[in-house]
Amino acid sequence: MENIQLRVSNPEEEYVRSKFREYYERAEVQAPEDIQRREWGFGGWERKIETRHMQIASAQELKSRLVRDTPLFISYSVAYYEFPDMRPMEKKNWLKADLVFDLDADHLELPCKNRHGSKWVCEECLDAVKEESIKLVEEFLIPDFGFSKDEIGMNFSGNRGYHVHVRSEGVRELRAFARREIVDYLAGTGIDFSSMGFESKPVPGKREPKQLGPTPADPAWPGRIAKLVSRLLAERKLEEVGIGEKDAKKIYKHGEQFLRAIEGGNWDAVKLVNKEMIWRNVVGRLGIKLGDRIDQNVTADAGKLIRLPDSLHGESALIAARVKDIGKFDPLKDAVVFGDQPVRIKIKKAPEFRVGEVTFGPFKEEERELPEQAALFLLCKKEAVLWKS
Ligand SMILES: [Zn+2]
Repeated sequence: MENIQLRVSNPEEEYVRSKFREYYERAEVQAPEDIQRREWGFGGWERKIETRHMQIASAQELKSRLVRDTPLFISYSVAYYEFPDMRPMEKKNWLKADLVFDLDADHLELPCKNRHGSKWVCEECLDAVKEESIKLVEEFLIPDFGFSKDEIGMNFSGNRGYHVHVRSEGVRELRAFARREIVDYLAGTGIDFSSMGFESKPVPGKREPKQLGPTPADPAWPGRIAKLVSRLLAERKLEEVGIGEKDAKKIYKHGEQFLRAIEGGNWDAVKLVNKEMIWRNVVGRLGIKLGDRIDQNVTADAGKLIRLPDSLHGESALIAARVKDIGKFDPLKDAVVFGDQPVRIKIKKAPEFRVGEVTFGPFKEEERELPEQAALFLLCKKEAVLWKS
């Protein structure tokens, strides 16, 4: 077992680490399947991964490393290797890998991000990324891929998103190319408009072809598109998928007629200019927002590390809590593991934030006594220091 020297650089880090250690002493952190086949990475005050290429032999060793080394971030490989601690990567000898999806509020490009930046999250971010995670499981993984609920595990990322783990023997053997295909399918990347059931059918004697399209009864993507457009029409929210205001108004005016026509695969009940372009554009917007290339890689590139469920996140002091009922899950409550004991801190700057039922801030350049759970949150964001009188 490799011994890593952990440098404690300042009183804040020392305090955060001591609190994390208390948690790991009392917590029951479940080890991932085949723990000895995984590569591990530990992070500290400066970086989320400071040491990697480590092997942990057993659940007992994991527990003792958590208590003894107390990393501020801990992640393990999605992949299983013959020699997880060897390097470079090729020497590890890849055996298989779980399928894991990383959904992060930061990727959703919500308007609130302009307000609070990437460092913070708000209720709007957390609600949106939760909806996206539900959509991934309930509209894609279960109906389109046929995974059962028992094969899908979900946990909070510890910061501002969710990780969805598919634990099915059938997907573990998939190589990078197949994983990329799955991600592209989910994201709707390169979805072929014509394979979605759309077709411009020439009509004898008329200059304009007729626009045919999918019906809500169709399976997978075609049905999803028809259902979504029908729902958005009923809710008068067609603008959400990029349909211009003028066109949306035209469709609303003959809403009933349009809905009935779609049921029969006729997408031409309302005359629209550039109709094919309009529906092409809609199709391009409906995928799961798995984010940029980096996070698509978490799934597609089997060499990536993912946060250990139930472990603490060093930027928030929240745990990567396992989610049983996503509908009822409240990360700012259910991922909090620290208490109410008052801690004196000097806050640099923080927007309003909630921990449990209590809302704090906004703060600017002030000394405060906050409950441990809120103080740790700000210390981990590096927007506060311990205040010694
Ligand atoms: Zn937000």
